Amino acid sequence: MLPEIESLLVLQDRDHDIQTMLSEIEKIPRDAAAIKQRLDGSTTELDSAKKAIVENELAISKIDLDRKVRKDTIEKLNVQRFETKKNDEYAAIGAEITRYQDMVDVLETEELEYMEKTDALEATLSTAKERLANVKANMAIEVKELMEKKAQNTVRIEEVKADRANLVKDLDPSLISMYERVFAKKGNQTVAPLNENKCGGCHMKVIADVVSNTIAEKEVCQCNNCGCFLYSV
Ligand SMILES: [Zn+2]
Repeated sequence: MLPEIESLLVLQDRDHDIQTMLSEIEKIPRDAAAIKQRLDGSTTELDSAKKAIVENELAISKIDLDRKVRKDTIEKLNVQRFETKKNDEYAAIGAEITRYQDMVDVLETEELEYMEKTDALEATLSTAKERLANVKANMAIEVKELMEKKAQNTVRIEEVKADRANLVKDLDPSLISMYERVFAKKGNQTVAPLNENKCGGCHMKVIADVVSNTIAEKEVCQCNNCGCFLYSV
């Protein structure tokens, strides 16, 4: 293999590393936003679970009050019925008592339904609490990991850049600028193998001259289709 191609392969490897680490750093704000979104979602879930319990309790208190008012009325009607001497009035008060008692029965059924809902609501609340606690615990770890990744990548990028600069200083500047133009388009496939007359970068057949020159290894060759640097395998 031509020494220039060997160097370009190393250069490509370094550049690819830098690119990967930079894109990892770029992704960090999106990952952080996703974590925040999970936290917001779990907080909203907990808030609605709490609200549902309060509303259920309020409904029960209101029914309790309505029932108490009707029971008081029944007691008063019972006293009136006991005191009356008239048969028709006695019967009318009796009918009124029955009407109020029916209302009390309906309210008791309703209250029972609300009370039965309480258990399910408590269960939902405890699940929401657990979920939020989990999200918070994981969030601390995930945020720490993201920050560590950023710090590590930042240091590592500088190291690789220094390594790259060392490599580049011994190479022909026109070769480097050509390489950089191709790398901007082809990334990790800037230097590719020539395999059965096909370029490893674009998988197309290359012209005969390029094939023979690549195999002869007398000069640096580029694919006539995509421009990537070729080496014979
Ligand atoms: Zn090609």
